[in-house]
Amino acid sequence: MVKTVAPPPGIEGPGFFATTFDKVIGLARKNSLWPLPFATSCCGIEFMATMASNYDMARFGSERIGFSPRQSDMLMVMGTIAKKMGPVLRHVYEQMAEPKWVIAVGACASSGGIFDTYSVLQGIDRIIPVDVYVPGCPPRPEQIIDGVMRLQDLVGKESLRRRQSEEYKQLLAKYEIK
Ligand code: SF4
Repeated sequence: MVKTVAPPPGIEGPGFFATTFDKVIGLARKNSLWPLPFATSCCGIEFMATMASNYDMARFGSERIGFSPRQSDMLMVMGTIAKKMGPVLRHVYEQMAEPKWVIAVGACASSGGIFDTYSVLQGIDRIIPVDVYVPGCPPRPEQIIDGVMRLQDLVGKESLRRRQSEEYKQLLAKYEIK
């Protein structure tokens, strides 16, 4: 199924269409989010179903999975993250080039889920900033797609200056990320 993409808001007249640079870049970015799957357990299986033909992530321009952080801009964390694994996840995040976004898929990535134990990280937002949380244990593919669409909304509306803003620098400083 081909998904048509509406043009960004702008001014239209006979033979011309004008809009802002922010909106054009936002439109391109939101429809070409390349996922980096960081899957450690059961939620990863739901992600595999999401990427299969029934759900067809190509509709969103996100069918190209990158296992290289440098060629991906949407980190999808799926599964239980043990505290020992935290530094690895953080390292992957740091290797991604700006602009980058993060989705915590499922209860474990969002909050530790049912594993309220000494060895499990109680949510990946303790070590990296998260843009969208997808609830569920596990979430169905429809929920994962909903999370991607919510991220698309954020990406499409993001100002080009956000990554240079004081607010963003403070967010990274909070996580001690340089
Ligand atoms: S949220 Fe549930 S399904 Fe997902 S990794 Fe945790 S235990 Fe498994």
